[in-house]
Amino acid sequence: MTITTRFAPSPTGYLHVGGARTALFSWLYARKHGGTFILRIEDTDLERSTQASVDAILEGMDWLGLDYDEGPYYQTQRFDRYKAIIQQLLDQGHAYYCTCTKDELEQLRAEQMANKEKPRYNGKCRHTGNVKPEQEAVVRFKNPQDGVVTIDDLVKGEIVVANKELDDLVIARGDGTPTYNLTVVVDDMDMHVSHVIRGDDHINNTPRQMNILTALGASIPQYAHLPMILGADGARLSKRHGAVSVMQFRDDGYLPQALLNYLVRLGWSHGDQEIFSIEEMVQHFELDNVNGSASAFNMDKLLWLNHHYIMTSDPALVAHHLSWHIAQLGLDEANGPALVEVVKLLRERSKTLVEMAAASVYLFQEFDSYDEKAAKKNFTAGSDEVLAQLHDQFAALSNWESEALHQVIINLAESLGLGLGKVAQPLRVAVCGSGVSPAIDATIALLGREKTLARILRAVAYIRLAA
Ligand code: GLU
Repeated sequence: MTITTRFAPSPTGYLHVGGARTALFSWLYARKHGGTFILRIEDTDLERSTQASVDAILEGMDWLGLDYDEGPYYQTQRFDRYKAIIQQLLDQGHAYYCTCTKDELEQLRAEQMANKEKPRYNGKCRHTGNVKPEQEAVVRFKNPQDGVVTIDDLVKGEIVVANKELDDLVIARGDGTPTYNLTVVVDDMDMHVSHVIRGDDHINNTPRQMNILTALGASIPQYAHLPMILGADGARLSKRHGAVSVMQFRDDGYLPQALLNYLVRLGWSHGDQEIFSIEEMVQHFELDNVNGSASAFNMDKLLWLNHHYIMTSDPALVAHHLSWHIAQLGLDEANGPALVEVVKLLRERSKTLVEMAAASVYLFQEFDSYDEKAAKKNFTAGSDEVLAQLHDQFAALSNWESEALHQVIINLAESLGLGLGKVAQPLRVAVCGSGVSPAIDATIALLGREKTLARILRAVAYIRLAA
């Protein structure tokens, strides 16, 4: 059997982490089995769907690297097809026109509630058939009244639903537009979807969709319903738990690989392995190992993974993502060292790319003022002399490399009988503006001769003026 999976978001908001995990699992399953992964935009809810949301979903998929083999398909472009299928169901006696009014349906509902019955359509128009009445009418699917529907869910196990629990669902509204369950069924059938992997909030739709597929003579896909993602407090993950939009994670300085690794472990396991390259995810992914119960989102673990990937990924890849953050800060990368080198300098101390970009500002632009505390502590009487000597000795160097710069610093400290800090700290404040940076020799090696020397002279002048 050829494996075909799909991710079918409704464009009514950004791509959130729950959707991204559904997309990832569907993508992995297709990739693992050499199958096809489809992106389908379910935009039939014209009031709630927006182009901005479609763009956000496409951007999120792209940033995560979840490429699709087919699509994006748009359901709004398939209305003719849905209409044809609705007509087919009517003609074959699997559907009927219903003229029950809103008031009638409300009254029915009230009666059923009063009798402590489950509110459901009573089948009053079941015998109307396929002749379109004069007045406005919806089309209902004629759900079988006997027997059961059995879902062999690949995550949740066997779920049996009696047909008498399912009422006759509306498949076309009064204006003829198709409803959600109908469009999903037609698309899954036409697109030859073999595995429907989606959130378990859709589990109640599944037996209805299976009945419609059966009526259409279509084969039934396998279903895998993924449990929802919770916040740390056990409530369903939402905005109030912090970032939930995939692109917000980019903005907050996460690498897509870290988020993917985090998401794959959210409800899925392979032994006790925590770190997975994309290739390993593809190799090991199986729906069998998806946990049937909800899992909680853990920001600390994601942060830990992010730091891991910042440190261990190819610096060129990290640099590619850092570039975006450098631009966000209004900095011009052309004014500083190669980003690959910046990554190597800062990766150990940066848990996010936002931190890394913030820590690299002095490499790309002059600073206006020194950190007050650091200047007070380190620009003391005599430090101007130390800096002036450093300047001259650095200027005399023929090669501007960490090792040589390091030697100058320790030799000067020794010859002046000073602790290393008394030389390195004033230098650090002079070139970085603050008392924190990675190893100072590596920092000025990267900053370059010209900028370093100019900044040292500027600090000497500053100290002398202040004295
Ligand atoms: N469009 C639905 C949603 O965004 C998903 C439908 C499906 O996966 O079958 O929740």
